[in-house]
Amino acid sequence: AGQRDLVSALVGDQADKWDLAGELPEELLRQLGAAGLLCAQVPAAHGGLGASSAANGEFTAHVGSLCSSLRSVMTSQGMAAWTIQRLGDADQQRAWLPRLTSGQLAAVGFSEPAAGSDLSAMDTRISLEGDTVVVSGQKVWVTAAHYADLLVVFGRCGDGGAAVVVPATAPGVLVERVADPMGCRAAGHANVRLDAVRLPATHLLGGVGQSLPLLVTAALAYGRFSVAWGCVGILRACLRASAEHARSRQQFGTPLGQHQLIARHLADLLVAEQVATRACEHASHCWDAGSPDVVIATVLAKHVSAGHAARGAASAVQVLASAGARDGHVVARAYRDAKLMEIIEGSNEICQLILSQHVLTTVR
Ligand code: FAD
Repeated sequence: AGQRDLVSALVGDQADKWDLAGELPEELLRQLGAAGLLCAQVPAAHGGLGASSAANGEFTAHVGSLCSSLRSVMTSQGMAAWTIQRLGDADQQRAWLPRLTSGQLAAVGFSEPAAGSDLSAMDTRISLEGDTVVVSGQKVWVTAAHYADLLVVFGRCGDGGAAVVVPATAPGVLVERVADPMGCRAAGHANVRLDAVRLPATHLLGGVGQSLPLLVTAALAYGRFSVAWGCVGILRACLRASAEHARSRQQFGTPLGQHQLIARHLADLLVAEQVATRACEHASHCWDAGSPDVVIATVLAKHVSAGHAARGAASAVQVLASAGARDGHVVARAYRDAKLMEIIEGSNEICQLILSQHVLTTVR
């Protein structure tokens, strides 16, 4: 509760201002980062909070209900930390994780101009030259890269794949913001060029020649979990704004909420919020229990939550009508932010493909 109150107090009513300006205050990010709140799952041994998936998820939903740009930065930081937790050896975890719980910021780059849904088309090259690792390539739409001190970059390495921690200030790194994103406008999306970036081989997480799909799946699992809970937050913000408006605004001599067609929007929003919450709780339960079902439960939670958030935000704009139909209003921001959640961390279609493959291989 203290952590929720801290974020609520720090964000206040500023999310729309940040969205319109396209910028989050850097001191806010550093303060939350130094409190371990941007990657709450990191164990206490590395300066983190050691939060369970369930607790981290509920906290992520709370941040998502306030500001999806901030939640997006949290997703990136958490995904970077999770990648280091999963792929890094003990020395690398000791070297990098305390930075991510003491105020440094991180982002994760998979996508490239020709590798969106199909990450096997990745062309970034990671190679070892003695005790130096060399990284060359281009990453696009990297959330939080504008703010990041560290970039976790995935690429090809020999016949397999690799992930490497790249300081944003390393010679050969160029970070350029994506102009005018449709939503999560203050999340600091940026394209990143890596021009023969040379780093100590200790920056290579877990060695060379690993399976690229397995590496990517490990990192994306956290991203999906975090986006799913963030979408629960979007739905909660929409539900709140819709309920308040439907109670207070009168048309035809009665509150909007007493008109059956508006009441139906409210009921649908509640169903959306509850269904998304249950799907996320199930995914978190699988994480916390170490269940092998975690991968599919996380894809399902992401798919359910993003779809409900996109449709729910559209319903909320409908309930508020002109009162919510302008930039600077929570439901207009939710509408733009939620649509993007159907694209990232496995688009609707990619989630459906994964779920359908699960059906084909497991359902008899
Ligand atoms: P495409 O892959 O070109 O797909 C276009 C459409 O075709 C989509 O609807 C897709 O679902 C569909 N499609 C593709 N293949 C199939 C298929 N086999 N069957 C059916 N339909 C298919 N990337 C990062 O690396 N790090 C980040 O932090 C990051 N943050 C992002 C934040 C935002 C707001 C956005 C918009 C993007 C971000 N991305 C990030 C990139 C994101 O991962 C990609 O946009 C996403 O993977 C989809 O790729 P694409 O945009 O190239 O679309």
